Amino acid sequence: MSALIFSGKICPYCNCNTSLVRGDLIYPKHAIENPTAPFLSKYYYQCVQNTDHYVGTYSDNKTSLGRLADGELRLWKQKGHSIFDPLWKEKYYFASQKIAYHWLSEKMEKPLSETHFGMFTIEECRKAIELCKEHIHKKD
Ligand SMILES: [Zn+2]
Repeated sequence: MSALIFSGKICPYCNCNTSLVRGDLIYPKHAIENPTAPFLSKYYYQCVQNTDHYVGTYSDNKTSLGRLADGELRLWKQKGHSIFDPLWKEKYYFASQKIAYHWLSEKMEKPLSETHFGMFTIEECRKAIELCKEHIHKKD
């Protein structure tokens, strides 16, 4: 996958440009119901053709967290984080976040720089989840 896709500049579904927009445009319902929610003032890369394709940014509000995702991929990314993050946060399975990502990168056979849930496809999220489950069983 190209750098333009990983940096959120091109939508991988539509192959079109994206624009950097505030969260209140991504979540219009929340903007009305809960206008002070912090994610509303964060910035996101959003597809210019389909508003459901977007990705968040790091604290600089400019560097994308990865590729644009649709609703289904967003669910898989959340599932992935919910099983992977505790493995290093709780320090029982991995001593640090860095060690955990090195392990995942090796198991996924992907470069470390591309081993992030924000860059994964649905298939890759599934694979990462399976690897985490296997690892948990091994350790228990
Ligand atoms: Zn799109």
